[in-house]
Amino acid sequence: MWLADKYIDYVKEQAVEKPEESWGKLLLGFQANKLRTKLLPKKGLAKGYQRLEAMMMAFVADSLAKPGSYVWGNIFAPCEIIQCLGLHTLSIECLACYLSGYHLEDYLIDYAQNSGMAPTLCSYHKTFVGAIDSGVIPVPRYAVTTSLSCDGNLNTFRYLEKKKGVPFTFLDVPYRDDKASVEYLAGQLRELAGRLEEQFGRRFDEEKLRESLRIENETRRELVRFFELQSERRYPGELISHLYMMMGMHLLVGTQQFLDLIRFMVEDIQTYPAFTGKKILWSHLLPFYQESLQSYFNTNENYQIIASDIIIDSMEMLDEEQPFHALAEKIIRNLYNGSYSHKAQMVGRLAAKLRPDAVIQFCHWGCKQSSGGSILLKEQMQKMDIPMLILDGDGIDKRNSHDGQIKTRLEAFLEMLEGEAEDEDRNAGEETAEAERAEDGNAEEETAEAERAEDENAGEGLAGDREEIRESGEDAGNGKGEKKRC
Ligand code: SF4
Repeated sequence: MWLADKYIDYVKEQAVEKPEESWGKLLLGFQANKLRTKLLPKKGLAKGYQRLEAMMMAFVADSLAKPGSYVWGNIFAPCEIIQCLGLHTLSIECLACYLSGYHLEDYLIDYAQNSGMAPTLCSYHKTFVGAIDSGVIPVPRYAVTTSLSCDGNLNTFRYLEKKKGVPFTFLDVPYRDDKASVEYLAGQLRELAGRLEEQFGRRFDEEKLRESLRIENETRRELVRFFELQSERRYPGELISHLYMMMGMHLLVGTQQFLDLIRFMVEDIQTYPAFTGKKILWSHLLPFYQESLQSYFNTNENYQIIASDIIIDSMEMLDEEQPFHALAEKIIRNLYNGSYSHKAQMVGRLAAKLRPDAVIQFCHWGCKQSSGGSILLKEQMQKMDIPMLILDGDGIDKRNSHDGQIKTRLEAFLEMLEGEAEDEDRNAGEETAEAERAEDGNAEEETAEAERAEDENAGEGLAGDREEIRESGEDAGNGKGEKKRC
């Protein structure tokens, strides 16, 4: 690890000094990490999470190594259509996370802000824009973004088109879930397929898309099964494992490779012991670098994140016969589309299925939708009697997250959960004792009753005996006394 840390420091230094010349070194680091995760997986992690990490490292390292093999997207871009043309989708949010693996986010965010980006813009976008503006990463041939969830997307992609000439498709996602909206978005998705054909000179095969949706339906079913099992069994993961899972579900869903992994995880988790700690349902982003959160959720046997809404933000079964309409429905009904009460209801459905002990919502700085609606989610959880904690911080920029504050709030919340559990145990204990006391009381009364009854019987018996004796005395007086004297 010492060597890896040295290399990270070296690359950061190079990127800051000569950004345009640092890409080769960054790429080499990604390739080395790909090998490391494959050959030397992290000890203590469940096998499925080790494989997931290796898969996501390979996905990014291999895509970046072949410039014509990918398009940029946001996390909600329809990777199913893109992969039908043999292309990968690299989301800018995920790339920002990978760059933060080199601790470059502060430099890149400052770079973007010094070039005129608003400080209030989401730090994923600023990291990415900083990387492009500074020349740290090369630009691709095409980009795809949606209006879903995030008002920063359109501006960021427009900026990249204007500054670096990267053409892009903007998918305008309607808020409303009705027939006209589905038709409108399905038409845009069909156009996207056509534009990618033109741009990359490849043929789009609709049958491939149908197959991809079949695989996706199966993957979602298996994933829900995995989440259910993860609420019963201890399956050691890290905060970043859930982030990798989110990336997989958005960038690799619809591929056989990803379905095979989830199937493996469903099998593998059943070999792990029962989980007896607190089950947490996570909402929104996972600040994978945050030390306090790491100490409570990285392979901790007392607390386990059993699922996150951002991993399974779409719960639609897709109609393979109408693939564009199915994808349009999937995007429109995404948990992050429409009003926040829609999200609250969907998280409620997930919670009803998985029965977590608590929900933690992480409000990422600069992300209006996550902070704006968190109270609605809290109200929904209150109705379901599930405690919820809202944490504020930044998913990527360490300077915007205050570890001390997060630690204090988290510990108080977890103590409260433990206290509730103790109260429940105590109440259960008191109820049991009460029941035992009641039983004992009944038993004692029954015994006393039985004894009284026996005594009475015995009394009656004695009286009978006395009668018999009297009778026998009388008998003796009637001539049997001699016998007695003998
Ligand atoms: S965190 Fe929020 S603001 Fe940032 S990219 Fe995601 S949805 Fe957009």
